Amino acid sequence: RIAAVDGDATAGVHAFLHVDVEGALEQARASDERRAAGRPLHLLDGVPIAVKDVLTTQGLPTTCGSRILEGWVPPYDATVVTKVKAAGLPILGKTNMDEFAMGSSTEHSAYGPTRNPWDQTRIPGGSGGGSAAAVASYEAPLALGTDTGGSIRQPGAVTGTVGVKPTYGGVSRYGLVALANSLDQVGPVTRTVLDSALLHELIGGHDPLDSTSVDQPVGGLVDAARQGATGDLAGLKVGVIKELAGDGWQPGVMARFQETVELLTELGAAVTEISCPTFVHSLATYYLILPAECSSNLAKFDAMRYGLRVVPDGDPSAEAVMKATRDAGFGDEVKRRIMIGTYALSSGYYDAYYGQAQKVRTLIARDFTAAFEQVDVLVSPTSPTTAFPIGEKVDDPLAMYLQDLATIPANLAGVPGISVPAGLAEEDGLPVGFQVLAPALADDRLYRVGAAVE
Ligand code: GLN
Repeated sequence: RIAAVDGDATAGVHAFLHVDVEGALEQARASDERRAAGRPLHLLDGVPIAVKDVLTTQGLPTTCGSRILEGWVPPYDATVVTKVKAAGLPILGKTNMDEFAMGSSTEHSAYGPTRNPWDQTRIPGGSGGGSAAAVASYEAPLALGTDTGGSIRQPGAVTGTVGVKPTYGGVSRYGLVALANSLDQVGPVTRTVLDSALLHELIGGHDPLDSTSVDQPVGGLVDAARQGATGDLAGLKVGVIKELAGDGWQPGVMARFQETVELLTELGAAVTEISCPTFVHSLATYYLILPAECSSNLAKFDAMRYGLRVVPDGDPSAEAVMKATRDAGFGDEVKRRIMIGTYALSSGYYDAYYGQAQKVRTLIARDFTAAFEQVDVLVSPTSPTTAFPIGEKVDDPLAMYLQDLATIPANLAGVPGISVPAGLAEEDGLPVGFQVLAPALADDRLYRVGAAVE
């Protein structure tokens, strides 16, 4: 299937940056042998998986969609990769992404865009467009993504797949090349809610190698998905977030969203409108905190330790090599955020920008706390529009950032979220995503509601 549809940077879906045919076949044969020998198997043993290229894979290239890591082969596996390997899932390869996970369209990949399988002139979302497109195009039944501001859920929405951002700390980030440490989470990208639950239970749980990992076992997600699939939501209290809908939202997205909300009522849920007034400040808050963290994280790409190394003619000094390497190795969006972050953290501006953003972040978390005192889950459309044409927003950073309006609050507060397919928008026939958000560590509610409406 990959050979038939994936193509390359110039044509085809281009979900993959690297396909490991030999490795995947070897793992698949080992799975067959385990089965033939009657050994106890994990439910997903033998089911292939695609891995976003921001997660380290021992012996396989890991570029993060950047030229600066071209040719780098990590010496170790991310914890989530270790877990999927141990359960017997063959790894198909590494999926395309916006450079260092910055973007909402996968157009910021240094290796060319991924194309949406529904319409290859359109974006597959981002930053994890490769993982979502691989699943949507039947190149992989399962994929791993990462979500810092929506990079699992928004690609899920615009490709008609299921994407989950677990509770912050619920899944190990060890071996995830950090974009913004206080926001990043690894999570599943799949075709069904039950598949996501199975994968989430496999990758979740405490990891001593990640100091932000929650010291609590993961569980109950598969049961919750099975319970939700019976279609009984009696007693469930649902809040529609007032601030995440309305003017500026694509009519076809809103129509499918309203229909899904009506379905919740039919299934027995009590639906009310909930106001979270600080959510309107989420984008501004995120686009200070994220650049601040990533400008610091990306300082390690200094031409000395990993990947690319450019030595300018006539000046091999450390400073000149670092400058030339970072200039050639980073794309425009990455440079933009490094500059914003460095500025926001600089002395004299720290309190006005970064410090202030941290305070607003606390207010956003409090809005969630207050809302979850009234309802069990919150819902919104995942993304304000369906998949837009490739090229439409790539030179307009603010228009691109607006894609994340509804997904970012969850990252700022650390709460879990899922995007579930909600049908196609009438005006363009493209997939719409329905987002469900739950309190921290209540990820099971995402699966119950998600499985009921999918
Ligand atoms: N689109 C958002 C950004 O550009 C989200 C990225 C992400 O979740 N990795 O920052």
